[in-house]
Amino acid sequence: MLISSLLADVIESKPMTKGTVCDLKRKCGKKNCKCAHGEPHSTKVLSSNHHGRTRLLCLTKYPVLQLFNIEKQVKSYQQFRRRRSKVVYCFKSIISEMNKLEKNLLVEVTQKGETDVKRKWKKGRREN
Ligand SMILES: [Zn+2]
Repeated sequence: MLISSLLADVIESKPMTKGTVCDLKRKCGKKNCKCAHGEPHSTKVLSSNHHGRTRLLCLTKYPVLQLFNIEKQVKSYQQFRRRRSKVVYCFKSIISEMNKLEKNLLVEVTQKGETDVKRKWKKGRREN
């Protein structure tokens, strides 16, 4: 994929929210509740990482439309991160190729009349 089209995709990113939306399953502890018989309570939460800690934000009080928008923004964030990693991979590949090219094109200028082989031999003799 061309870098220009990758960058165009990144630039076209929509408003986003960091994290993932998931259902938190739990038991309330009441003996006669449905959850005690294998049907846990489910709470929709936004799970996100802030400075290395997981933060859970309960989404049950959000109106349906707002919840829909939050889920859309979370999807945008995940898409952005996938596209971003592709861009990073491309640039790393380019830099790696440029480093190889630089290594292959470098011409060392030595003392006049001294060949590369001679220099290596002299250096080896000095070390002995
Ligand atoms: Zn219960």
